Amino acid sequence: MTLDDERLPRKVFGVVISTFLDPGRKGGATRNQLSKGRTSRRPAAARVRVAVRLRPFVEEDSSTSESSCVRGLDSCSLEIANGRNSQETLKYQFDAFYGEKSTQQDIYVGFVQPILRHLMNGQNASVLAYGPTGAGKTYTMLGSPEHPGVIPRALKDLLQLTWEEGAEGRPWALAVSMSYLEIYQEKVLDLLAPASGDLVIREDRWGNILIPGLTQKPIASFTDFEQHFLPASRNRTVGATRLNQRSSRSHAVLLVKVEQRERTAPFRQREGKLYLIDLAGSEDNRRTGNQGLRLKESGAINASLFVLGKVVDALNQGLPRVPYRDSKLTRLLQDSLGGSAHSVLIANIAPERRFYLDTVTSLNFASRSKEVINRPFTHKSLQPSGERVKLAQKELMDPPETKRARRQEELEDGTSSPEPPPSCSKLSPLKQLNTLEPAVQERLLNLDRILDSRGSQGASILSTPRRERTALEKALKEKDSEIQRLKEKYKELEANRLNQKPKELEEENGSPAPQGSLPMGTQTVPMTKPLNRVVPFRQIQEQATSQSKTNVLQKDSQKRKPQPLCGQQEEPTEGLRTTLALLQVPPDLLAESRKKILGLLNAGSAKELRKLQRIGEKKAQLIVGWRELHGPFAEVEDLGRVEGISEKQVATFLKANILSFAAECFSALSRKDA
Ligand code: ADP
Ligand code: MG
Repeated sequence: MTLDDERLPRKVFGVVISTFLDPGRKGGATRNQLSKGRTSRRPAAARVRVAVRLRPFVEEDSSTSESSCVRGLDSCSLEIANGRNSQETLKYQFDAFYGEKSTQQDIYVGFVQPILRHLMNGQNASVLAYGPTGAGKTYTMLGSPEHPGVIPRALKDLLQLTWEEGAEGRPWALAVSMSYLEIYQEKVLDLLAPASGDLVIREDRWGNILIPGLTQKPIASFTDFEQHFLPASRNRTVGATRLNQRSSRSHAVLLVKVEQRERTAPFRQREGKLYLIDLAGSEDNRRTGNQGLRLKESGAINASLFVLGKVVDALNQGLPRVPYRDSKLTRLLQDSLGGSAHSVLIANIAPERRFYLDTVTSLNFASRSKEVINRPFTHKSLQPSGERVKLAQKELMDPPETKRARRQEELEDGTSSPEPPPSCSKLSPLKQLNTLEPAVQERLLNLDRILDSRGSQGASILSTPRRERTALEKALKEKDSEIQRLKEKYKELEANRLNQKPKELEEENGSPAPQGSLPMGTQTVPMTKPLNRVVPFRQIQEQATSQSKTNVLQKDSQKRKPQPLCGQQEEPTEGLRTTLALLQVPPDLLAESRKKILGLLNAGSAKELRKLQRIGEKKAQLIVGWRELHGPFAEVEDLGRVEGISEKQVATFLKANILSFAAECFSALSRKDA
């Protein structure tokens, strides 16, 4: 049979539905003892279906003074402004989305009613309303006499179903009963017997969850249900927070059981449980002004909700471990969330901007995956998006003079105002695109063209799907790591050259340095003359001194722009020749000068260090500081390990200092010779 709402009485609250129950069943409170004879082998976990319901503006004048920060896209998806980037919206996809205009009937028929029939097969089901306080959980679950929510509608339908299925002559006799409890600060409290304390949750050997001592009332009619439910609802723990005058601080759990007994042999029994849960508000403690007890409540509530999130996540991802036992709420729902149970979660959200953060949190909880859309959150588009992009492209492709001329023309024509009206600047994505950096604009438009050429049905980059973004990010990452790799390779080669060159030169005994093998990052230069002439050391010294003087002068006049010792693709300069000539310096002399520099780096005071080429006060202090922290430098190249001194600066430093130290050594030697 089907659950056809039209065939059911219109009046929900207060209407009596004649329900057939097994006449042998006695009324009054009974204990929750019946368990199903299931096998211990659990079926594969079922996914939790998730719907989002956006309530309309409810506060006075809020709809006129405020605009919604959420908007529906279709029956399954919605988008919300991205608080971190006004150029983007966040798009979420769910099993269903119900907008402001959706009715209680829409939600019930579309999302809840289909799971009820499973109870007749002895399977469990649960409906959970999630969301911040004031977003419409209680409205969705309970509703009002004029707009009854999920609970009265589901009860009405279940009673109708059991009446039909359990009718005389049918194989099974059916009985419906209800329990009503709340979980408040991780305590399970019986709302039908408020005097009883915290109840324990147990699991029988078949995996059924039981609460020994929980009151269970048989209900034969909707009036029976109301008689128990309405007074018990008043027992719910409610409190006042800044967000809502009567906000619920507990999880209210209505348990409806459908028990079945076979009328003929083998007289089997089966039971289906339905949990209808109005969860406590999911708002952030810090924004509710909660303190003391309220803060403690929030902590407990949020812990339960946090675990619920993990459970839903684990079920929907098919993870091997589902953390049911980590909270009372999920422990209670263990046999009704996942397994063969049919569970739906309705995340309630509010349109008001003051709910923005809680709305995003709720959507993230409900979805666990979202797409970032490059599109500002606007309510109206001034132009169709395709046209906007073409205009943006034209705007970007035009040379600046053309743009200036066109702007001038527009101003003269009066077709353009000097400043666009505020609404335009706010609404037009074209304007916002133009405010991006030219390189970013160019990239976006290039991507847009690629998308177009792939036949993306006019989808512009302003609505880049997630996979496109991911691909782009991946490509960028790859490029970055390639650059990094090349840089490292370059450094390695530099170091090798620096170490090997003197040896090679020694072996070749004065042969010219081949192209592209100069130490310390000297560029490859076309050699016009062989450089195997032996330069007298005195000349080297003079050139070196003049070179280092030049460097000092350049340093003074053009700070931060150290001049290279040679120019790329040019005749070797005097400086370069000097360097090349210096390469013919016996390696022990070079080693000596490196040693001297190292000695100074390791023992020199900041003042002494400043006597080195390319070392100013700041660098001297950095070196001293590094030394104190890490001990002496092992080699001169280790200078690059000092934070604030780049590899490039080390190369320049070595170039200048080795040269001048070698010259100094040479002059000392020649003095000695003389
Ligand atoms: P919650 O239980 O999440 O704290 P409520 O259900 O109490 O929130 O809803 C807050 C207010 O918004 C109530 O006045 C309720 O009547 C109203 N409301 C919620 N959802 C809707 C809706 N879909 N249509 C009309 N009013 C709604
Ligand atoms: Mg509520």
